[in-house]
Amino acid sequence: MKSAIKRRPFGATELMVSEVALGAMNLRMLGTEKEAYEMVNYVLDRGVNLIDTARAYNGVNGEGKTVQSEEIVGNVIRSRTDIDEPIVIVTKGHGYTPEEFDTDLDTSLRTLGVEKRENGLFIGDNEIKLVYFLHGIKYDRWTGIRESGALEQAKKRQEAGDFTYFGFSAHYGDGDVIREAIDTGLFQVIELPYNVYNRVLAEDGPVDLFKYAYDRGIAIVNMKTFNGNGMVPTAKLIKDIVDISYRDMLRHNLGNPYVSTIDAGCRYPAEFAADEEASLEGPMPEEQRTALAAEAAKVAGLFNNICKECTHCMEKFECVAGIDIPSVLGEAARMTIARAVDKDTSAIKAAYDALPGVKADECLGCGACLEWCEYHLDIPALMAQAKDDFE
Ligand code: SF4
Ligand code: SF4
Repeated sequence: MKSAIKRRPFGATELMVSEVALGAMNLRMLGTEKEAYEMVNYVLDRGVNLIDTARAYNGVNGEGKTVQSEEIVGNVIRSRTDIDEPIVIVTKGHGYTPEEFDTDLDTSLRTLGVEKRENGLFIGDNEIKLVYFLHGIKYDRWTGIRESGALEQAKKRQEAGDFTYFGFSAHYGDGDVIREAIDTGLFQVIELPYNVYNRVLAEDGPVDLFKYAYDRGIAIVNMKTFNGNGMVPTAKLIKDIVDISYRDMLRHNLGNPYVSTIDAGCRYPAEFAADEEASLEGPMPEEQRTALAAEAAKVAGLFNNICKECTHCMEKFECVAGIDIPSVLGEAARMTIARAVDKDTSAIKAAYDALPGVKADECLGCGACLEWCEYHLDIPALMAQAKDDFE
């Protein structure tokens, strides 16, 4: 497919992938299912050849319909008659034992509609390369994964041709686990967060894990380029302290030579078009990247210990008190930042009051959510803080 979007090597796989990819997590957050189909078709029209989805990216959209990102991605690819190269699909499961691994993988294969043929994996008439991830490995999970035999099972399934490449995603705070996982030599692709406000897994950390993986032929999918879903309203609060545009954030990350592709998490074609345009300007030169990182450092501390509204905790877990954790803690995060930068908090209080359902004051402090926060946040403590802040 003809495209202006530049391509980069996908680690040592011999594939070239579009340097901007579609993060299909947000398909569940749109107003209608039609918009979700339009979004996937749009990026394929633009020449994107990597789509990043997951078993857990399900949700109720604006029409009140439960949508599954994998199903939409599979349906779109099946419907296309103009794709002339294998599309790379990244999907992820929370199967951390051999049995759970098989169940999650098989469900993903069915939901995407993947068929295994003699000459590869297909969705309809279109060949795909399927990258299968362990979703969000963290210290406690990694220990279980290693000890349960899940890695051996994954290897068997990969050798059987049920998926093409094996990988994992991980978040901040798990550098040691990431390095240990890379050292197993089992993974060909990894997905890591990185942006101008937080480069701790890369050049600002004790080990540049982006370089470490790159040097070992591992492809890197970069997520959280825009610092998570909460950044849109948060950017307004900090605008007069630092004014860093999305365009600059994207080009900053493209300036990292170890990144294969950026999952920019667009929701609408216009957002993708803006990212495509920014990418065509080229990677940001190193001098400018350093200056931008210094600018970001003025406020980077504000983002510690607050909810990123990534919604990962709700993908496999339901709060026993029925609290929508990302929504409640998202407003709490903005309250914390607004106070730190001395801004009026009345709109944040009003937004919190308008949230439907139970709120922080109903948190039982049970801690059942703790293992599901990808950012190791002490959710009960943040709920207690939110209760005080919004009382
Ligand atoms: S600690 Fe609070 S937020 Fe977490 S599961 Fe228990 S009730 Fe829900
Ligand atoms: S509590 Fe943690 S996992 Fe849940 S939305 Fe916030 S940052 Fe994400």
